[in-house]
Amino acid sequence: MTAPYPRLDERLRMVDLQIAARGIYDPRVLAAMREVPRHLFVPPPYDRDAYADAPLPIGSGQTISQPYIVALMTELLHPKSSDKVLEIGAGSGYQAAILSQLVRSVVTVERIGTVAAQARSNLAAVHAENVEIVEGDGTLGYPHSAPYSGILVTAATPEIPDPLLAQLMDEGRLVAPVGSRSVQELVVVERHGSHYREERHGDVRFVPLIGEYGWREE
Ligand code: SAH
Repeated sequence: MTAPYPRLDERLRMVDLQIAARGIYDPRVLAAMREVPRHLFVPPPYDRDAYADAPLPIGSGQTISQPYIVALMTELLHPKSSDKVLEIGAGSGYQAAILSQLVRSVVTVERIGTVAAQARSNLAAVHAENVEIVEGDGTLGYPHSAPYSGILVTAATPEIPDPLLAQLMDEGRLVAPVGSRSVQELVVVERHGSHYREERHGDVRFVPLIGEYGWREE
């Protein structure tokens, strides 16, 4: 066991007060949220507030999600240690770092080059060696490593991109914020052969997913 990263007290409080208190119960998810040093994924000066109950700016007009939302989406994915997960919207790399503790491998796609480079260096700093960062339009998925046992979309989409549904393994789960540019609902899709069962989990707000099967750039 290596020593925990600094600011452990703040992380433990974050998990107790913002995450467990709101009903996230998967012990593996809670352990990952206690372990991964969120402050290393937030650029200054906002790193001071890295354990606050809020999304924060990460540059290029993008944001790192609120810790509770990261925990909720991760729990809804039902991650298993044998899973191969695809994330769309690497952003800071924090969500990918959480997943990297819970599954076998993670591919995360990011459309903005400078953001992808930042995610790469943040993930290297926490030795998340089972994460691959790909630069490109994630609305097309990443067919090269498909199919995936789980797919997490961390940007707002008008509808779930067809290529992602096609790249989901049988019995796999996909979690995505679906709706307008200003407000979305968290949708969970579970694939059963050619049937896709859908559940909804409340309102969320994400930056837009921009690409061929998402929104157009404004
Ligand atoms: N998961 C991130 C937060 C995501 S913010 C984290 O843990 O920090 C949403 C990200 O999605 C932004 O970085 C944005 O540039 C990216 N994005 C938007 N459209 C995309 C697309 N079509 N493909 C890949 N990434 C996209």
